[in-house]
Formats: sequence, C-alpha cells, structure tokens
Amino acid sequence: MPAFDRTKHYKLRHSIDPVFFDPNVPEQYPPDIELEPVHRDIELYIDIENETASGSVTVTVRARRHGPNEIVFDAVDFLDVSASDTNGSELSWRYDGEKLNVQWPNPFEKGEERRVKITYRVVKPVDGLYFSVPDDEYPDRTLYAATDNETERARHWLPCVDLPTVRTTLDFHLRANERFTILANGILVEENVHHDGTKTAHWKLEQLCPSYLVCFAAGDFIQADDGSFNDGEKEIPLAYFSGPEYSVEELMNTFGRTGKIMAWMTKKLDSPFPYPKYYQISLPKFGGAMENISLVSWGDWAMMDETLNEEIGFWIDQVNVHEMAHSYFGDAVVVRDFAHAWLKESWATYMEQCYCEDIFGSDLEQFVYFDDSQRYFREADEKYMRPIVTRRFKSSWQMYDRHLYPGGACRLRTLRSELGDEVFWGAVQDYLKRYNGKVVETDDFRHVMEEHSGRSLGKFFDQWFHSPGYPDIKVSFKYDSKQKKGAFTVEQKQVDKEKGIPAFELSTDLGWTLNGEEHRVPIKINEAKHVIIVTIPEEPDQVRFDPDHKIHHKLDFNPGGPMLRRQLIEAKDVIGRILAAHELAKSAKRANIEAIVNAYPDEAFWGAKEEFVRALTKANTAAAIEGLVKIIDQEEESKVLVTVFEGAAEFRDRRIRDAIGRRLEGDLPYVARRSAYVAMGAQRRDADWDTLFEDSREFTYKGIAQAGAFRGLGGTRREEAVDILLSQSRYGAHDNRVRPAIVTALADIGQGLEKAKREQVKETLEDLLRDRWEGVRFQAVLGLLKMKSPESIPALEAFGRTVSKQTQVMIERLISSLRDEDKVDGSSIKKQVEELVEKVRKLEDQLQTVAAKVEPAEEDGDQQE
Ligand SMILES: [Zn+2]
Repeated sequence: MPAFDRTKHYKLRHSIDPVFFDPNVPEQYPPDIELEPVHRDIELYIDIENETASGSVTVTVRARRHGPNEIVFDAVDFLDVSASDTNGSELSWRYDGEKLNVQWPNPFEKGEERRVKITYRVVKPVDGLYFSVPDDEYPDRTLYAATDNETERARHWLPCVDLPTVRTTLDFHLRANERFTILANGILVEENVHHDGTKTAHWKLEQLCPSYLVCFAAGDFIQADDGSFNDGEKEIPLAYFSGPEYSVEELMNTFGRTGKIMAWMTKKLDSPFPYPKYYQISLPKFGGAMENISLVSWGDWAMMDETLNEEIGFWIDQVNVHEMAHSYFGDAVVVRDFAHAWLKESWATYMEQCYCEDIFGSDLEQFVYFDDSQRYFREADEKYMRPIVTRRFKSSWQMYDRHLYPGGACRLRTLRSELGDEVFWGAVQDYLKRYNGKVVETDDFRHVMEEHSGRSLGKFFDQWFHSPGYPDIKVSFKYDSKQKKGAFTVEQKQVDKEKGIPAFELSTDLGWTLNGEEHRVPIKINEAKHVIIVTIPEEPDQVRFDPDHKIHHKLDFNPGGPMLRRQLIEAKDVIGRILAAHELAKSAKRANIEAIVNAYPDEAFWGAKEEFVRALTKANTAAAIEGLVKIIDQEEESKVLVTVFEGAAEFRDRRIRDAIGRRLEGDLPYVARRSAYVAMGAQRRDADWDTLFEDSREFTYKGIAQAGAFRGLGGTRREEAVDILLSQSRYGAHDNRVRPAIVTALADIGQGLEKAKREQVKETLEDLLRDRWEGVRFQAVLGLLKMKSPESIPALEAFGRTVSKQTQVMIERLISSLRDEDKVDGSSIKKQVEELVEKVRKLEDQLQTVAAKVEPAEEDGDQQE
C-alpha cells in the first residue's frame, strides 16, 4: 500500500499510536508449514445485489516431510461450511467461526499432494470483500464486489493460511451476472455464458500468490485500454477500470502514464515484468491503493479530470510507481513475515524517489527525500521510535506506519550512498532475480549486498534497521582567522543507552564554499561528539554538514545569519536552500524572515517554495505574516497553493483573511480551493460566513471543494454552523466523498461547545459509528477522539466489535488513549470499571456459545454496506 498522507487521504491508522514495546505482547514469528498449500481453485458465485459469495475453494496441499496430517485455515464468519477430500479420502474437520481445522486419518508421505475442497458462503463480510449496492439514498451507486486484503483480511472471504509465507498458484472460476466485468489476478482463460443470465470467468495465475494479494473485482465497470508494454520478453497488456460515474478520459488522466513508468522500472531493475498483465481499477470505498498481483486497486480519490491532474497528478504518479514497484518488491519477492515488511514498503517508497531522480532530476529527488525524512521524523519524535525490523506488534497492520514507508526508504538511500550506485543497483538486480518467486528476510537482502560489495554490513543493518532512533545531529562551526582553521563540532544527540539508541557510524563530508567554489572533506563519525579541524585559507561564505545528502539524519546547524542567508539563495542543492530557510525562521529575526520572503519569488523549484512557506508559518512573527500575505496574493503554482493555504490556516489575522478572500473570489483549482475554505474558516468570527455557507451548498468536481467549505463552516466555531453540520451529516444528505469532511467539521466545532450542544454533537458522532459508509464511520471514530469524549467508550467498543481484528487493535488503542485523557475524572473511570465487569460476564457467555457451535455467528446486520 502507498503512503496515504501525501494524497491527504483519510485513514485510521496514522492517527493512533500502536504499541510496539508492550512486553505482554508476544513476539510474532512465521508459522510452521509442514503441510503447504500450493494451489487454490476459487469457485465462487458472486451475488452482488445480495452481498453474498458462495461456492468452494479447493486447496492442493503438499507435505514437506513424512508424517503430518493436519492443517488449519483462517476463515472468519463463514456459513454452511463443509470440507472434503476431492479424491474421496477420508478426512475430518472442525470449524469454530474463525479457524477451520482439517485432519486426515493417514499421515502424508514427503512430497505427497492431497486436495481439500472447502464449501461455504459469506454474506456481507465485515472486511476483505466489499460489496457496493445502490439504495434509496444513493440509487446511482455502482454495483460491484471487490476484494482488499492487506494485511490479514482475506480470511473474511477466502479460506486460507492468512500469512504471506504461504503462497499458491491460482485458478478462479467466478460466476456473476453476465453483464458484469469480472477481473482477477493473472490471465483470462475463458468466459462461459450460462442460460440463466450469468457467466463464469476463468482467470489463472501461474505465479505464487500469498493470500493478501489474491484479488478479484466484478461489477458495472468502464474500461480504458492503454495498449501494451513490451518488456523484451513479452507484451504486457495495460488496461484501467472504474465505475460508470467516471469516464475513459479520467481513467487515462489517472493511469495513462503507467506504460512510461513500466518502461523506466523494468530498465532500472533490469528485469522483465514478473506478471502477464497490468490492470488497475479505481473504486469508491477503497482507501489508498493496493498492489494485488497484476490487478492493482485504488480508491476513487485517484480519479482526475484535467484540472485535478494538473494539481495532484504528480503525487498520483508517485503512488503508481509505488504500487508497480511492489510487483517486484513484495509480490514476486515476498516477505516471509511482517517483521520484514520493510523489504516491500520501504522499497516501494524508495522507488518513488528513484523515479523522480531519473525522470525529473535531482531537485525533485532531493525534495521527495526531504519530505520522506520529515514525515518519518514527525512520527519518531511525536509518537514512538521503533526498530524498522521488529517482531513485537499486536497486529501486523500496526507495522504499516511511517517507520516502514519513508523511514525505511531513507535508510535504503543511505545504503546506496554507502555502497555506490554500481554496486548497489547490481546487487539489487541480483537480489530480485535470485529471490523471484521466493520468500525473504532482512538477512537475505543483507547477504546479497555483502556479496556484491565485499563489505561486512552487520553493523550498518544493526544501527539502521534493528535499533530504534536515527542520527539527530547538532553541528556548530567556528573560524579562527589567525590560524586559518575552521572547527566543526558534530554531536549525535540521539544517543540513549537505556532505549538502545546508538551513536551511529556514519561516513559523509563536511563542505564549505569560498569565493563561489565548493570544497569537501570526507569524515567518519562513530562517537557521540567529534571536533573536526579543517584548514580553510579565508572565512568561508557557507559551511555545510553532509552537503551531498549521503546520510539520513536530522540537522541542527546554525552557522550565523549571513552564512545562512547566502545558503538560502546560493546553495545549488534544494535541501541546502530548504535547511537554510528553516534555520533562519527559527531565529525569528526580522532580517532573516525578510530574507526568506525576498528569496521566495526567485526560488525556481516549487518544492522549496513549499518549505519556505512552512518555515514562515512556524516563525509566526509579524514579518512572517506580512510575507505570507504577499505569497497568498501572488502564488500561481497549483502544486504550492495547498501548502500556502495550510500555512494561512495557522493565523487568525485580518490581512491573511482578506488575502484568502481575494483568492476565493478568483479561480482556484479544487484542492487549493478546499484548503482556502479551511483557512477561511480558521479565521473564526472574522471568516466570510456567506461564502462558506453558499459554497457548502454547491457540489463541484468530486465534492473536493464542497468538503472544504463544510470544514470551513466547522472552523468558524459559530453556533449556527453546528445545526447545519448536524443535519448535513446524515446518510443521504450529500455525496459520500463529502460526508467524511462534514463529520470532521462536526468534531472540530464540537470540542468547544457548551454542554448541551456538545452532547448533541457527541451523540451524532456516536450514531455515525453505525453509518452505512465506512469513510464516515472512521471519521466518527477520529471525531470522538478529537472531542476527548470518554463517555463514548462503550459506543467505540461496540464499533470495535463490528470490524476486522486488525482494525479492532487500532480501536482498542484509541480507547486506551481516551482513558488516559480521562484520568483526572474519576467518575467516568468508575463507570467503565462497572462496564468492564459486565463485559467480562458477557464474554463468558460468548465463550460458552462459541464452544458449543460449529456454525459461525450470525451475520451482523447492515454494518457493512
Ligand atoms: Zn506499499
């Protein structure tokens, strides 16, 4: 999956801290596979209107040694389950609602294969398989069924050993209404039309596939054919799909650069594409994007008309690169277990940086790298620091955080600097060839890197991947004009023996500029503090630490205003200019702030401009506000505008407010307009109420701007906004691409209300936990967290029981953070203790029920659309 927050997409997991250090959480290891599933034949009738899948999955099981006779499948809430051996051999089975245990009386011989056919039905599964069906409120909704399994959600519709180390080839025989398009992993063998108005599509995948990458989609889809890509060995057909509410043009805006990306990637990795086709499908309800083998699925947030393409197309391409990179890193070379998930996610994220470097040049590469490192630092500094590789997690889904995506990507970049391009890419290409179709752990990757480089990399991997923390570096510089020497003091501030955060061993350079000429001296660091003396004939114009960005680190280095102001304008590297802006802004001196404001219009690279705006926003001085007003008035680059308005939202200031107002009167692209509304709302009482109100009534492209107008209304904190938001949040009142924003706006405004109104907002959010749209339910969860509402814990617990295990772990964590908030107020705690006693009693009842039944629990109403 991609890094969501870049595309501003909501997702529950980034808002809640997982617990990685709880000693009560057992360490996770991959399972034994003495009996190994090697093939699945998935024969299902997909009844979309009734949100049901029924049929059978026949699993071919092979013994790795003589003796075993038992296998356990994950299968949650299946109905009408039975299991039989297709050769008629005897077997016995037990099903408890979560696990299907299959046993043969005779043990297997080594290498022997048997086939077990599991017949079952699932109705409105809580996760893994989504159904989309029109209803009274949304009669035009696209009819479809589609799967989305990562990390352990396939078990809600597919009997499987739901961990990545278990991989099989696939046959699908999927039956559905004949008017539907039916897609799945692999190639289409044939479609047979039946006499009852249905057809069966036979798809076949000859490569091994773990459960989380098994995918099908069936429904009313439109299709854009994009020809094929020849990878030197074969033609890879490219095609894109969505519901009929979008057009072929929009599909091409979103996915039309796929062939170009594939040309770059196959060359970069010196590997033919691992699969026989590359299809991408974009559907509402999906969060993010998912790299299912040869059938990548996206939410419809990715669909773009031309204007949106102009605005966010660049970031969509980054996700496109990311998902395609998984075809190699993750799909063809599979992580043996989630402890090593960085081998897929860090790699896919790192490939985004590499794509920028090769296609757009080093400015963009540096900017994306800088952005990645900042996103990782924020999580590490504000939430937790964990080793990139760890076995201690409660749910595998928790691992999919910013340590795993940008944190690991920045480390890969450092490894490449350490080894050099030739060795690094040669080793990576060899690694992909060697492990194609196999599972890997971190040591497998390290061994290939060592083999190619001749280096011993144990320490490198220990400090970067097996320990928590990162180099947090403080540098100071003094020039002695008599001795003609410069002294660099380099400190590693992160060192913490108790937490296991080491002093890193680092190889990089010190740099300085004298009379326009750049100089470098290589250094090695391995202690908490070094003083390095360098002979420099005159006082330099600029001084730098790691000027070529060889090592992932956070830098605190202020060599003084004059040097920084020169660096801001003269540094050839984007990161140099960005770092100078942030250091200057920290000082808050007028001369320094004005230097940033003056440098802004001449800055050639849009990404640096974004960072200049962020620096000014943080500076929060009169001069910074004056500068920001100028920028709001003048900036035309659509990529930068969102950041400009995000900065504006941080200030309640008449001049800022008027500048936003002027921009709202003119043309703004969708996402920028959305951000401008939010910034206007943040002006509170001074906000332009009429504009926000009027524009909240108008649906424009995908509801992007309208969502912002609702957020703006919430931001005003005005009493009259509460009733509007309460009534407009209702199911059916608005497009479901807009409603999550209304829920967020409610939570924004709800925090500050007096008791009776606050109560009303809180109750509405609790009701929305049962909404028929998942995006709204998740926003309601986050809203209750934002409102710090411990009274809502029972409602959240009830919600937690309706979702998959992996989401449940997140909900539990959220509830515990609400409890922490509540420590000052004893009464609520007492109430919860009483509820807990009640819950334990109920749990005992449930356990008895579970023990008694073979059939699963009844379906749970219309929780899932
Ligand atoms: Zn990914």
